[in-house]
Amino acid sequence: MMDSSGRTAVPSIKRLDEAVVNRIAAGEVIQRPASALKELLENSLDAGATSISVVVKEGGLKLIQISDNGHGISYEDLPILCERHTTSKINSYEDLQTITTLGFRGEALASMTFVAHLTVITMTEGQIHGYRVSYKDGAMEGEPRPCAAIKGTQIMVENLFYNVIARKKAFKNPSEEYSRILDVISRYAIQKIGVSFSCKKHGDSRTDIHTDSTSSRTDAIRAVYGPGVARELVSVTASDDDPSHSIFKMDGYISSANYSAKKTTMVLFINDRLVECSSLKKAIEVVYAAILPKASKPFLYISIAMPPEHVDINIHPTKREVSFLNQESLIDSIQKAIEAKLMQSNTTRTFYTQTLLSRSLGVPDEAEESMPVQTQGGRNLKAPVNKLVRTDPSNPAGRMLAFMQKSLAGHVGSGNGLVDTNLNNRPVEMPMEDTRKIMDLTKNEEFAAEVQEDQTGAHLQNNKVHKIAQMDASSLAGREALEHNISQANEDSRNELTTTRRLVRQRRNLKERAELTSIQELLATIDQETHSGLEDIVKHCTFIGMADERLCFVQHKTYLYLLDIVKLSKELLYQQVLRRFGHFNVIQLSNAASLYELLVIALDEEEQSGRWHESDGPKDQIAQLNVELLMCKAQMLQEYFNLSIDESANLCTLPLILDQYTPDMDRLPQFVLNLGNNVDWETEKECFDSVAAAIGEFYAIHPPLFPRPSVTSSEVYQPAKAAEISQVPRRLETDVNSEPVQESVPQSGADEPEVEDEFRLEAENAWAQREWTIQHVLFPAMKLFLKPPHHLANNGAAIQVARLENLYKIFERC
Ligand code: ADP
Ligand code: MG
Repeated sequence: MMDSSGRTAVPSIKRLDEAVVNRIAAGEVIQRPASALKELLENSLDAGATSISVVVKEGGLKLIQISDNGHGISYEDLPILCERHTTSKINSYEDLQTITTLGFRGEALASMTFVAHLTVITMTEGQIHGYRVSYKDGAMEGEPRPCAAIKGTQIMVENLFYNVIARKKAFKNPSEEYSRILDVISRYAIQKIGVSFSCKKHGDSRTDIHTDSTSSRTDAIRAVYGPGVARELVSVTASDDDPSHSIFKMDGYISSANYSAKKTTMVLFINDRLVECSSLKKAIEVVYAAILPKASKPFLYISIAMPPEHVDINIHPTKREVSFLNQESLIDSIQKAIEAKLMQSNTTRTFYTQTLLSRSLGVPDEAEESMPVQTQGGRNLKAPVNKLVRTDPSNPAGRMLAFMQKSLAGHVGSGNGLVDTNLNNRPVEMPMEDTRKIMDLTKNEEFAAEVQEDQTGAHLQNNKVHKIAQMDASSLAGREALEHNISQANEDSRNELTTTRRLVRQRRNLKERAELTSIQELLATIDQETHSGLEDIVKHCTFIGMADERLCFVQHKTYLYLLDIVKLSKELLYQQVLRRFGHFNVIQLSNAASLYELLVIALDEEEQSGRWHESDGPKDQIAQLNVELLMCKAQMLQEYFNLSIDESANLCTLPLILDQYTPDMDRLPQFVLNLGNNVDWETEKECFDSVAAAIGEFYAIHPPLFPRPSVTSSEVYQPAKAAEISQVPRRLETDVNSEPVQESVPQSGADEPEVEDEFRLEAENAWAQREWTIQHVLFPAMKLFLKPPHHLANNGAAIQVARLENLYKIFERC
């Protein structure tokens, strides 16, 4: 702002018009029609209504009318009913501790009068007539007029946001607003089973929601969410009254493994209040991910009661996400209860299996019919009986495959020769002891080198491009020979690919891949090699916190352990790749990444870390050869691992292996190089094993490439580390021909405070995010799925550091 002399004038402070202030405030409380409806509904419930009906016009933007049979509003209160901060629900701040009503801020009705036309008709017990009165900007418009009425209250909110044009315009789709309104009513309808609810569009005779006040909870769920959900419900309860963990009581209904929906419905009430809690939702989804087919989600109704002082009660109408004391411990108990319940219910219910085990084994159809099948309540099964397989009750959640392995082992063991006949030309019986060799990729290099030595030039494998480069590639003749061999190998692999494709096509259903013998064998090896002691620790430990960038503290019984997150997560992800084989959801890369560029970046990194030298041959050529190799394998990578590569050799998707988890994309170049170098493409089993290992290596929860930020920024940006940091965000854009970026790195972080702040922030985020992931994604998943192999128990992945009794003794002495 300039004054006449051209100087910048200091803006003067003015008091905003009160109507403007109120309208702004109201807009915050009432964000959309559904939030107005929620407030009105809660008021009716607070007034003790047992019957609530709602009529909506144009998604609530034209009209929301709610009628209840509650206690009504007395004549004397009408003048201040819609003033801000008028409420009948609390008198003092202390009352908040014991509040049992849904509202208490006295803000909702007032807010509505600032952004809509509001009319109230109400009658209290014992009156002979009711009153009707309209409100605007917090005040009555005229006196209440007597009118015919019945006991209770009817409130009409008309022309919502008539004076907030921008907001009104934002609601383009009234039917979406209407479904949000239905959603709120649906949720309350199943929580408040003593109350009947109905909702319809204005002018319609049909109601979209209708529940009776006598309905049971399951009846209410049936009435609202349909018989499909109601039929599959199991009740679940959990509680804890140990103040050192958490105090709560939970009961609810959750869908069994027979039910699946596109997205999770979680109806959550805490102390009767409709809330959201994303960490609880995620934790439960993890449990279900184990037993439901890909992309299928559960229905959950959960009601939790806990001491009011443990919940953050000052819930703003727009803030539905809650936080409460001892959240983790509570979530943990609920997760366990649900897991136990689901496993139990699996014994009496049936699964529609994802695989047709017996077909792939060549078992004749009669054998399929003889499979034990149990159904409940004689309901009509969607699937023919011969496609239903009963799971083993002792089988941990999600281990449908374990069932199949057992039967496979049975068939093969009994010597009836029922091996996958589709693979009759291929070596299916691989020596077991080899299967784990490829697990650890650092070891794998040694392994690969050994293999390399055993091979004559003519037998060079196409998957050893990197090693080839390290051989004497300076001689041109040698290089030509190598290239010839490589193209020969590519040719071979193309043939091999055609065979694999043919084999795959022969299968009746491309989706049913987990029955591949090789995968079953790999899974069986995991089972055989499980170290039960370590498994017990992982399953029943309590996460305490990170000790350093790799190790975290956990408590198991009275022992304190350090677990190596990198090793454990690598193993978990490797195992999950095999378990979910062919059934992944995908992570879409926002920009498809050129394989070639990724490989060049990775080779640059190799060079920087001294594993590659200029004399090894031109990087671009090696990158190109690797691209060709991967392009050859593209279809297989896509089909089995959801790693899709487009025609122009760009990587487009990655498999989603753990929900809520994406790997560190800075490691993508190394992953692609690993696929090129360290995968054994020769035999099916080794190939799957090594791809799974490469994915495990990439997805493992490594320390972020950002150094951990500490209190003093100078520590974060020690010059030695600066190169590492500044490179990270630029990597993918790096011009492949340019010199390494090191030159552009400032010598000291302090020279560029802004950049420093930015990196610091990014580093902090990366570390915080990682810790969250370890606690809320990795640990729950490990508890459910990880079968730690023996070698992890012996190589420092778990170290016992203390016994608590002894620690207590020390403390006592202090
Ligand atoms: P709060 O619910 O936070 O008290 P509101 O603005 O939602 O604030 O409501 C103000 C007051 O109006 C309530 O405290 C209650 O006394 C009265 N009231 C609102 N709706 C109803 C209703 N449907 N029946 C009876 N009283 C109501
Ligand atoms: Mg209220």
